Amino acid sequence: MSESTHCCQCVTPATFPKANLNELSVCSGCSAEQPRHQAKFNERQRLEFEKTITASRGKQVYDAICCYSGGKDSTYMLKMMVRDLELKVLAFTLDNGFITDRSKDNVLKMVDVLDVDHLFFRPSREFMTQMYRQAIFGDLNKSRGNYQARISDVCLACISVVNTYAARLALQHRVPMIFAGFTPGQIPRAVIRNNHHYYRQTFQQHHDHLQRLLGAASERYLNLPDDEFEIYQMSPYLVYEKSEQFILDEIRLLGWEHPEQLDGCTSNCALNAIGNLCHEKKYGFHPYALELSTLIRKGLLSREDAMQKLTLDVEPEVLQETLEKLGVTRQEIDSLDRRAA
Ligand SMILES: [Zn+2]
Repeated sequence: MSESTHCCQCVTPATFPKANLNELSVCSGCSAEQPRHQAKFNERQRLEFEKTITASRGKQVYDAICCYSGGKDSTYMLKMMVRDLELKVLAFTLDNGFITDRSKDNVLKMVDVLDVDHLFFRPSREFMTQMYRQAIFGDLNKSRGNYQARISDVCLACISVVNTYAARLALQHRVPMIFAGFTPGQIPRAVIRNNHHYYRQTFQQHHDHLQRLLGAASERYLNLPDDEFEIYQMSPYLVYEKSEQFILDEIRLLGWEHPEQLDGCTSNCALNAIGNLCHEKKYGFHPYALELSTLIRKGLLSREDAMQKLTLDVEPEVLQETLEKLGVTRQEIDSLDRRAA
């Protein structure tokens, strides 16, 4: 990957939709003025976020579910929930079959240090493999609108299972808030009310499509019961912006260790590298380009560090091992056709 093919201020590649690099190699995102209403919007979001916490705290056995991947962002989020926001937390980790051993060690260590109730959820291997294959080679995500600029097909599929399971847990235990480590640009608002109705509707709308691609098990992992219980989807990184260095420094103090042999854009999942590879093949740009560029513009990450993340490849043997686990060959990925993003 050559740097001259990217915006010189962020890491938006020339191939990114509507990147429009100008004669100085600056992308449209960097040359656009920040809208004046943005600061007011941010302040309103912070107030709403804090009001929701105050109103929800102490009413149920748990105040909040934490979608805890074991990666750096959700680890710091968990610490924030327990130590700063003083919430009673039920954390869960989706074990998609590709969480590395050191990441699992991190999860267990962190929930012990922070004294949090925790569970691992490991869905059927057969279902997950089928889902990833359909995300890569089929049209599993076709109903999801314009996600390609923000996330890979593989991650989007996985996140749907995480979101559904989080909502299922919240309904089961009557937990009023779900926290997830979305960063600015990945989700529109810091507080979203009753997202579980939306997940349920989406499943019902695309029921036949999902049954055809994933079989009857899709019901189990992607559908939700009809339930009027109120749940707030909380994204703390939209209101409390933290630099990557700050997050790493803080969680290392708790004993978190950076897992090895992963690509530069994950700190827990070996499958991410495959998701990135397929995304570049299909759409012509890296799926983390937008997220990293947003962090650069906010001053939360240096361009140099971002570029390093985009270009850090895992060892070929490690990649091969992951491909075998997924039942996919490198040849199959290399022959993926370019699609419109
Ligand atoms: Zn730029």
